[in-house]
Amino acid sequence: MAETVRDVVMIGAGPSALAAAIYTTREDIDTVLYEKSVVGGLAAITDVVDNYPGFEDGVEGLKLAEHLEKQAERFGAQIEFGDVSGIRQENGLNVVTVDGEDVQAKTVLIATGSDYKKIGVPGEKEFYGRGVHYCATCDGAFYRDKRLVVVGGGNSAYQEALFLTRYATHIDILIRSDVRASEVLQHDMQKFVDSGQVTLHLNTSTDEIVATDGRVSSVTVTENGESHSIETDGVFVFVGLLPNTDFLKDSGIELDEVGLIKTDAHLQTNLPGVFASGDVRSGATMQIASAVGEGATAALSIREYLDNKKD
Ligand SMILES: Cc1cc2nc3c(=O)[nH]c(=O)nc-3n(C[C@H](O)[C@H](O)[C@H](O)COP(=O)(O)OP(=O)(O)OC[C@H]3O[C@@H](n4cnc5c(N)ncnc54)[C@H](O)[C@@H]3O)c2cc1C
Repeated sequence: MAETVRDVVMIGAGPSALAAAIYTTREDIDTVLYEKSVVGGLAAITDVVDNYPGFEDGVEGLKLAEHLEKQAERFGAQIEFGDVSGIRQENGLNVVTVDGEDVQAKTVLIATGSDYKKIGVPGEKEFYGRGVHYCATCDGAFYRDKRLVVVGGGNSAYQEALFLTRYATHIDILIRSDVRASEVLQHDMQKFVDSGQVTLHLNTSTDEIVATDGRVSSVTVTENGESHSIETDGVFVFVGLLPNTDFLKDSGIELDEVGLIKTDAHLQTNLPGVFASGDVRSGATMQIASAVGEGATAALSIREYLDNKKD
């Protein structure tokens, strides 16, 4: 096992961890981040971010991620590529396994985010972020006065579809079997169905997202066994979340029913000295601004935890 004990190991280098690292390193708290894929996380692969405060004309996701990374590095954050496969507590310290090697830390911040479940049909990957979306708050405003398709029949699909009714002239909701959304949401949706702004398609599978001249133009579906096509300007998929918490299965860290990490008001998990922030946290609002805010909160809690340990 390595001899060095880090003040804080951050798992993931998305907006939440990078924001936390800006705060910790600026206060001379020794900080290392391990990222298994892209520094900047989901923000780095988002075309344009239109709702992050401070950029009146929006900002390219990659540019925002680069700014966050440089700002964290300016204060001394160490960003390393590495896949974290486990956390355990030993002799009052946290031990984080990175690419098979153990790293000791007084505190840990888990900011590994969540992925959106995909439907795996032709066109989904090709038009990701450019006609195929997974977040209505993020991208709904690009579809003012357009037609949309929403895929999914659970609570999140209904919530997001209801939100999209403020922009789209018409929404076709494609539901593989039957509606699983709550009674309250179904009731709220009914008035849009009655007005003709929303059409529900039950027993309908999504087969292909089709583009014309490089723009999403229709979706091919099988509805009650019959294949047909629905014209649309964009597709929003809400078929569930995949929190990046598989690596915590033997850690003793408490997760909620969908696998997101439970924390207290200081963003500490049930393991002392282990914190969580951003899209991986139960109750997170899945936005860059909130992930960054939670990163700042977690950093201040980490500072307090380390200060209390010194006393
Ligand atoms: C297509 C799309 C468009 C979006 N548009 C917007 C928008 O316009 N506005 C907005 O506010 N939000 C938007 N979002 C949401 C926003 O990107 C997220 O809310 C935000 O990135 C969450 O930040 P995070 O740091 O919590 O997690 P993430 O950005 O997901 O970062 C987590 C990082 O942890 C890494 N990681 C995971 N597991 C491990 C491991 N075991 N070891 C090491 N590293 C690991 C991942 O590789 C990732 O880089 C969008 C999301 C998507 C998918």
